Amino acid sequence: MSRSTPPNEQAEDVDFVQLLFTDVAGRLKTLEVPSARWAEVRDDGWTLDGAVLLGYGDPEHSDLRLMPDPSTFVHRPWSTPSGRTVGMVFCDVLDSAGRPFAADPRAVLRRAVEASEARGQRPVFGVEAEFYLLRDTDTGTGAAGHPADGAGYWDLSVDEQADEVCRDIAEALELMGLTVDGHHHEVCSGQRELVFRHGDALATADRLLLLKHTARVMARRRNMSAVFMPKPLAHLYGNALHVHVSLDGTGTDTGTGPLFHDAADPHGMSELFRHSLAGVLDHAPALTALGNPTVNSYKRLVPASGTPVHASWARHNRSTAFKVAGDTAAPRSLRLEMRSPDPAAHPHLLFAGVLAALADGQDRALKLPEACEEAADALAAGDLAARGIAELPTDLPSALRALEQDAVVHGALGELAAGAVVRNSRSDWAAWHRIVTPWEIGRYAQTV
Ligand code: GLU
Ligand code: MG
Repeated sequence: MSRSTPPNEQAEDVDFVQLLFTDVAGRLKTLEVPSARWAEVRDDGWTLDGAVLLGYGDPEHSDLRLMPDPSTFVHRPWSTPSGRTVGMVFCDVLDSAGRPFAADPRAVLRRAVEASEARGQRPVFGVEAEFYLLRDTDTGTGAAGHPADGAGYWDLSVDEQADEVCRDIAEALELMGLTVDGHHHEVCSGQRELVFRHGDALATADRLLLLKHTARVMARRRNMSAVFMPKPLAHLYGNALHVHVSLDGTGTDTGTGPLFHDAADPHGMSELFRHSLAGVLDHAPALTALGNPTVNSYKRLVPASGTPVHASWARHNRSTAFKVAGDTAAPRSLRLEMRSPDPAAHPHLLFAGVLAALADGQDRALKLPEACEEAADALAAGDLAARGIAELPTDLPSALRALEQDAVVHGALGELAAGAVVRNSRSDWAAWHRIVTPWEIGRYAQTV
């Protein structure tokens, strides 16, 4: 990798430019142009068939246009196998009339941010990305692979090769203009976490996609796989995508300070924070469909696996889906941490749903229930009911139904994007539902 190219320079000094966008499942897609075409493509865009984005052919949405967002241009800090250089740029998607395409995930998030700003609130998002580094992955036989090291939570690992992958990722991201706060070993063998600096909603969502791609490339270069799947290994913890959010004032009526903080409150929490948190609790089932969009996501959300299974909140307890994070003495650090999402989430769609839920809690002045400082999975059903603590959806169809029934979260995505999300996840569920697993054979073939 070369340190000579500063991030966010224009494309004249690369050989190719990758125009990036995502489908509804959050997979990065690209169309690559030679650098000689960049100036034209930057100004005029590139036509796109909507089936790439929505996952189905639909004549009404087949003529779309990718428009590069030049503020996102980065020089890819690794060259191609033959030494060519590549730039990457995120694109917005326009419809045939040149308007933002309603189901483009970046457009969905832009709309949600504009709605927050119209309320005098500027959202700030951060993420903690967990993943496994595995060796001997065999997608043909379905083997996820073996953990690349045998270390545990925050251990100083002796597997320098696995550490080197994390250093490669961190260095590449820094060269692409991200500020990497740090990386550490997670709870289970081979599991890692990397955190980059929080920022505005769109930048954080775009950067998470860059992180996942970079991690996969860097792992492969050292004969490993970086696996973000929510639960790749049945006997080990899953991968979380903890999402942090706070709201700053936009400077008009609300000032520019952190809106979640109130120095007069014994816990430092403003009324607006309490209502916002009550909003995400109220919409937790629908948000689960966005934060946990795969069949595999629900194998992570099980009791006693380090993940939340109830829609509760706490100040200190990490077994709840929502936690107050940060230091009340440092107002800017006070934020909401969501602990149930996993890295299969489409960050743009999830963040848009979260912003709508926060706003709805404020609009309805929802009352925040008591904090749950005990492990919620140890509470008896009666205690949970008395405290108004509901289970998070335990499977994908329940979460998708909740999304369809939630006018606020569904409305934030819009009919077209929400419909595409539900269709995509439901077709995964239908495919999974038709499979008879070895576990079922072992359990039932000779016994029922
Ligand atoms: N890996 C855990 C999960 O899947 C989270 C571990 C942590 O607290 O960072 O939720
Ligand atoms: Mg973690």
